[in-house]
Amino acid sequence: MKFATKAVHAGVEPDPTTGAIMTPIYQTSTYVQASPGKHKGYEYARTQNPTRNALQASIAALEDGKYGFCFSSGLAAIDTVIKMLNPNDEVVACNDLYGGTYRLFRRVFEKYGIKFHFVDMSDAENIRAYMNKNTKLVWIETPTNPLLNIIDIEAVAAITHQFGALLGVDNTFASPYLQLPLALGADIVMHSVTKYLSGHSDVVMGALITNRDDLAQQFAFLQNASGAVPAPQDCFLVLRGIKTLHLRMQAHCINGEKITQYLINHPKIGKVWHPSLPSHPNHAIAKKQMKGFGGMLSFTLKDDSVEMALQVLEKFQLFSLAESLGGVESLCGHPASMTHASIPKEEREKAGLKDSLIRLSIGIEDADDLIADLAQALA
Ligand SMILES: *Cc1c(COP(=O)(O)O)cnc(C)c1O
Repeated sequence: MKFATKAVHAGVEPDPTTGAIMTPIYQTSTYVQASPGKHKGYEYARTQNPTRNALQASIAALEDGKYGFCFSSGLAAIDTVIKMLNPNDEVVACNDLYGGTYRLFRRVFEKYGIKFHFVDMSDAENIRAYMNKNTKLVWIETPTNPLLNIIDIEAVAAITHQFGALLGVDNTFASPYLQLPLALGADIVMHSVTKYLSGHSDVVMGALITNRDDLAQQFAFLQNASGAVPAPQDCFLVLRGIKTLHLRMQAHCINGEKITQYLINHPKIGKVWHPSLPSHPNHAIAKKQMKGFGGMLSFTLKDDSVEMALQVLEKFQLFSLAESLGGVESLCGHPASMTHASIPKEEREKAGLKDSLIRLSIGIEDADDLIADLAQALA
């Protein structure tokens, strides 16, 4: 099945009791049994819920994966992956991670004896120096947040597997419409479903997808044992959002490129980060592993001061100043004080994230209106 057909149909069967074409919101905590242990496959809603099952099957299908698991947030999904590890295990992660992921690694899991290395992976070979027999996991985001660095998934997967480790890819920024990490060699795909998969800024949720039976078993165990499961109403909302994922992503990509072109020709702009630009250091890899360049971009002003960046952010009218991304409406943000405030300033600057950087999540509005808002904010 092609992507658009899967977005509309995968995982969703007419409800067996009524024929309802949409999977109902099974708002229940438990399921009645005929006699002890004799039931219809459902015992308790932390373990299983039909609305969640439909969504998990849908997300797995979109990633060309065998198994999908949903969690109450993206971070709860990453938390589940790290909980598979043991003390003295090591993780090699890219160095411009989502701030919350960095915080989870450093401030929650380091104290349990797991060691994290943060590496610039613009060249996949850079990870070799950090790989050893204790390395159990390589964790990457591509495109990265907020500098839109591109990591070569196939190249990182090859090195990771040479050392017998697992490769996990946070595919939040690309969405499965633009990039399929499992097909490129990843063992685990993770999503902050909160972003493009949901697409309407009304749900917080996470997901893991894998083809491996052993990992699926562990994810199912941890999903139930730790219990960070999403509510059925939220699963319903995401099932609805996914039906237009391909259309939304096409619009995000078109608007993303139009606004990139507007900004690179604007006299007040310093630098623009978007993988569509041939000047982007990993443009060729983006072209190879992605179907489009996405709707996330960052820029700095020629006047590279924090004050000036804050002034521009305050002047936006159509772009809303808010954390998060991937919704139908356009957002602007200041990573240094918002999404990435949990990363120390020295670490941020080492990764090239200046305090004057502005990040845009381009929505699906008319590009002319978005450009008019940029024009007035920059004037
Ligand atoms: C938002 C985000 C997360 C965290 O997801 P939540 O749903 O907010 O917990 C992880 N990775 C990336 C790339 C994100 O943008």
